[in-house]
Amino acid sequence: MKNYEFWFVVGSQFLYGSEVLETVAARAAEMADRMNAGGNLPCKMIYKVTVKTSEEILNVIREANYDNRCAGIITWCHTFSPSKMWLNGLTFLQKPYCHLATQYNVEIPDEEIDMDFMNLNQAAHGDREHGFIAARLRMPRKVIAGHWQDNAFQKRLGDWMRAAVGVAVSRNLKVMRFGDNMREVAVTEGDKVEAQRKLGWQVNTWPVGTLVEYMNAVTEDEIDALMNTYETEYELETSDIEAVRYQARAETGIKRMMDEEGCKAFSNTFQDLYGMRQLPGLATQHLMAQGYGYGGEGDWKVSAMTAVIKAMSQGLTGGTSFMEDYTYHLEAGNEYSLGAHMLEVCPSIAASKPSIQVHHLGIGDREAPARLVFEGRAGKAVVVSLVDMGGRLRLICQDIECIEPTMKMPNLPVARVMWKPKPNLITGIECWIQAGGAHHTVLSYDVTAEQMRDWARMMDIEFVHINEDTTPEKLEEELFLKDLAWKLK
Ligand code: MN
Repeated sequence: MKNYEFWFVVGSQFLYGSEVLETVAARAAEMADRMNAGGNLPCKMIYKVTVKTSEEILNVIREANYDNRCAGIITWCHTFSPSKMWLNGLTFLQKPYCHLATQYNVEIPDEEIDMDFMNLNQAAHGDREHGFIAARLRMPRKVIAGHWQDNAFQKRLGDWMRAAVGVAVSRNLKVMRFGDNMREVAVTEGDKVEAQRKLGWQVNTWPVGTLVEYMNAVTEDEIDALMNTYETEYELETSDIEAVRYQARAETGIKRMMDEEGCKAFSNTFQDLYGMRQLPGLATQHLMAQGYGYGGEGDWKVSAMTAVIKAMSQGLTGGTSFMEDYTYHLEAGNEYSLGAHMLEVCPSIAASKPSIQVHHLGIGDREAPARLVFEGRAGKAVVVSLVDMGGRLRLICQDIECIEPTMKMPNLPVARVMWKPKPNLITGIECWIQAGGAHHTVLSYDVTAEQMRDWARMMDIEFVHINEDTTPEKLEEELFLKDLAWKLK
């Protein structure tokens, strides 16, 4: 996260004379410094230039496009900056773009204000001219209004930066597939060429047999080292140490293959474990805890989304995991959804120290796998699903409220999370199903729907948000209109 930077580009023109331009430049640098010091920005904001001509704008945008550290540009107009000057540059922009609608001073200085003050401090004027050209160009961009020293303003800029980092990560993301999609399943399928064109994801397959070779090459010392890590981070509650060691072997092999190929996400399927003794459970869970994306049953879309959201939320402590809707508690007035997976839920969302256990797995035909068992924490979160609608991708995000599970479920040997979706369980289910959302999701306590909307806008894909105010009727109409719009786009 710290390796990315955002360039602050301030618009102006020569009309005001050098003194005003010097003041603008000095204040812009001061604003970047003080916003960096504010503690709300995850990445560095760098004041780059006060632009006065079309050439200056084109130059800084070209430079931003080619600089790998630059994850986006942030623009603002302290004075007026005629927007035809921005046309050539903005047309070339390939990086995320945020327009700050702010001004240097908080208040209008009643006694002091005169026309000199008005000339220097006319962001309300300049930001409208600047906003028009982006609207005219139909450019995807974020507009954030408010005073730059305000905590909430800086927090929103920081949240947007995280979404923009998600774009940078997405454009370089490689996903390693072991085995194909689970037989006959539709929602986990998708057009990998379209996904790469839109999102940058390189999704390719490697033989399970190669993974088995990597696993066989793992040394006892490597397994010992990882076992120490497991025992530090988790409670070992099994006497079947060999089963746990097998997971350490699998984790080391999978990680080595991914790292050699530069992959940050992987998928596998219980239907293709040729040569493997256990389905990776603990192995996958611990890999997710290290930031790798994962999707079960060959679901590379949810795997990549998990990796992207984990990258967006680096340094935050709420947690993000691959998740699956399993079963409902439909007691009237007390309705909840129970999410889990066969094994693979990320311990970053655990309410307390996870326990390593070995249990028989009813699905598939392998040995009893070691896995982490825990309860998810209570709190606000989102579930996110990316589906392929045929010709386009749709990102669905639902606000949820996770709770401490209302029952112990002592015979359920997997990690589990209980939640209430918005606006309520019944309407929430109807809306989710109406939108075509998958059973697989990314559950995150660290990102918001606004950030996922920002990310979807920057990636140029459809976004659907199911929230407190959603009704099935409004959603049906929204989906119908979006379907038409995306066909024309
Ligand atoms: Mn599944």
